[in-house]
Amino acid sequence: MPELPEVETIKNGIQKFIGNAEIREVIVRERRFRKEISADFETKVCPAKIADYRRIGKYIIIDLDNGQSIIWHMGMSGRIKTFDNDNFEPKKHDHVIIRTSAGTLVFNDPRRFGFIDCCPSAKIAEQAELVHTGIDPFDDRLTADCLHERLQKRKTAIKPTLLDQKLVAGIGNIYASEILFAAGIRPTRAANRISRKECGRLVDSIRIVLSRAIANGGSTLHDYHKPDGSLGYFQNFHCVYNKAGQHCPGCTCNAPAGSGIRKIVQEGRSTFYCPVKQK
Ligand SMILES: [Zn+2]
Repeated sequence: MPELPEVETIKNGIQKFIGNAEIREVIVRERRFRKEISADFETKVCPAKIADYRRIGKYIIIDLDNGQSIIWHMGMSGRIKTFDNDNFEPKKHDHVIIRTSAGTLVFNDPRRFGFIDCCPSAKIAEQAELVHTGIDPFDDRLTADCLHERLQKRKTAIKPTLLDQKLVAGIGNIYASEILFAAGIRPTRAANRISRKECGRLVDSIRIVLSRAIANGGSTLHDYHKPDGSLGYFQNFHCVYNKAGQHCPGCTCNAPAGSGIRKIVQEGRSTFYCPVKQK
């Protein structure tokens, strides 16, 4: 599943490709996604000119000059493909085609857990999908105090807590392990026992790890691709994820035979951590 850095990379890729183009034609070949695409989606978003691009958690928002905004989520398997206008033939699972003055965007989603829809730009925060979405990691309102306060009610382990999109939006399974490693916090600690000072390190680590991933174009795991078909390569920079038994950067955690980075399972998801550096 694309995580926040991949979604940011996809958003930047679309913006670079078509910028403030005019939407000239929208073809919906399949409406049944996680949520059915509104019957009037095509007429609400076309014709219109693209005014701005935003990301909220893992949602891409494209604001249009007619007061509507497109909300786009990649789900598990969704991807956006880009084509020159005269160079596009629909293939299997190409469900939504958006032709603009600068090029064609195609939403391809074999499993259809993603979705695309629109709503009035002024009402975006009230959308069912976004109303329960937590604070974005790059939102200035996410501070050590804010995180510390939010964790007080959580008795669950910090790692699965970080995956809760109602807490902070957009942290997925890979980066949760990397963030806790960067902060030096053990993933099994109870969330409400993380100190205010540690919350400061956690907020910094969230931003550092996600920024580095965005700068490197996101991870390439499973079948994730950037819009232009090229691949991200952040996985080369993972410190602990998928590295069970190895030693983490600059650490002696594998010195006694049989140790090294540990893999555990928390709430059904793999977690990786260094038992030496993470307390
Ligand atoms: Zn280590």
